Amino acid sequence: MFGFLSSSCLLCDTLVDLNAHNGISLCQGCFNDLPWMQQACRQCGAACSGCSTQSPVCGACQKKPPPVDYTLSALSYVSPVNYLITQLKFHHQLSAAAILSELLYLSLKPQLARMADKPDIIIPAPLHNKRLIKRGFNQAVEIARPLAKSLSLPLEKNAVKRIKNTLPQSELNASQRRNNIRGSFELVKTDILRRASHVVILDDVVTTGATCNELARVLKEAGVATVGVWSAARA
Ligand SMILES: [Zn+2]
Ligand SMILES: [Zn+2]
Repeated sequence: MFGFLSSSCLLCDTLVDLNAHNGISLCQGCFNDLPWMQQACRQCGAACSGCSTQSPVCGACQKKPPPVDYTLSALSYVSPVNYLITQLKFHHQLSAAAILSELLYLSLKPQLARMADKPDIIIPAPLHNKRLIKRGFNQAVEIARPLAKSLSLPLEKNAVKRIKNTLPQSELNASQRRNNIRGSFELVKTDILRRASHVVILDDVVTTGATCNELARVLKEAGVATVGVWSAARA
């Protein structure tokens, strides 16, 4: 109906027929080579070779269960996924958000079909205002927007506020990350959160899980029963 809409693949510059790829700028060859997450811990989402249907949770989560109840990540945070995320966050390449969103959708769709308790709302991990102004957009919102639309789930961009402008987590080790992030979030739309029993936090990449766990801790304090994390990538 729209004829041949084309763009070039964000990864290799090959011409892409957008009609054949749900409007995303990724060629079939690059799609076929994507590093999808394989065996992962159901709770923290980390790669876990010993995890299975019988034993779905990793040793660390068994020892000290985190506030996040489950994590669904589409891709492993290796090449070319780290490149896509860098292009999005630091080079304003918003077509990378469309790609990551579509890939997350493809990976979530079969899992959501099996999920009895569907999420009530999606909350994109908020950025502090200073960082939001500097970057011009929140990459988590850009990934969440088309996804929420495809899944017909409400997106709550302003339900939670980031009140502490922390050091970039990437420069810190795991325990520094936990201390750095503590007290970073403030619930804004408490009425919406009070009505929600299952909330999903959406982030571009989960590294140690410190940010999502702190946000989950705050949401649970407010009475949310189940907090899941969806991320395009997992380190
Ligand atoms: Zn390509
Ligand atoms: Zn785990």
